[in-house]
Amino acid sequence: MIEVIRQDFPRGEFRAVLFDFDGTLSLIRRGWQDVMIPMMVDILAATGTQESREALHAHVEEFVMRLNGKQTIYQMLQLAEEVRARGATPCDPLEYKRRYHELLWERIRPRVAALEAGTLTPEELTVPGTHRLLARLHQRGLPLYLASGTDLVYVRKEAHALDVDQFFGPRIYGAVDNYRTFSKALVIQRILQETGISGSQLLAFGDGFVEIEETRRVGGVAVGVASNEETRQGINEWKRNRLLRAGADIIVGDYRQEQELLDLLGL
Ligand SMILES: [Mg+2]
Repeated sequence: MIEVIRQDFPRGEFRAVLFDFDGTLSLIRRGWQDVMIPMMVDILAATGTQESREALHAHVEEFVMRLNGKQTIYQMLQLAEEVRARGATPCDPLEYKRRYHELLWERIRPRVAALEAGTLTPEELTVPGTHRLLARLHQRGLPLYLASGTDLVYVRKEAHALDVDQFFGPRIYGAVDNYRTFSKALVIQRILQETGISGSQLLAFGDGFVEIEETRRVGGVAVGVASNEETRQGINEWKRNRLLRAGADIIVGDYRQEQELLDLLGL
């Protein structure tokens, strides 16, 4: 299913394509929310607050998902704020991030190991149609950019494990320790400067708020990917609603209909 939201979006003039990574191409980190949210609920419950775990969960979920697409550190900075607001002394946000990553790694390590051993294929751990779509865009000579809120070292490794790094070459961006020097908005500015294209010639794919909003801000066309990461089928309604609010021009659940999608985009 391809859902067109903005009927008169500019077609066919695209000169660069930007992709988010997790949830848009890669499913290696699927389920990260079920690691981050309980960890934060535990930390907030330990402040001695009177709030129930259910109330904390709802509150944490709201800010975690609102900040999704930005670098992980922003979720941890918010956590530190929340701890402080409850009268306790927070840890360094980098320490929270390290702790989160350790917990997440427990969950994703078997997937990466299975990919390396060949017992899982890259297709099984990507949004359906990922490799075909990237190959088609690459064949058309369009420079493809990858920008992720996940740390750059992991993005590079995971893109390689999924065999999609070949399509991006050196144009892979991710979070760095000096977090103020990276954002998706900065990557977009860099694309426009490097290639000399105008904002309307930028096409972007993402399952998060940030990349859609920033693409629309410069006048680009944004494909919202409401992927169901667990079943790899259909549309995730929760994501779809957020992508609509962010300004997505088109909504897809995956890239199974990559030919129709490219026709629609005039590519
Ligand atoms: Mg994402």
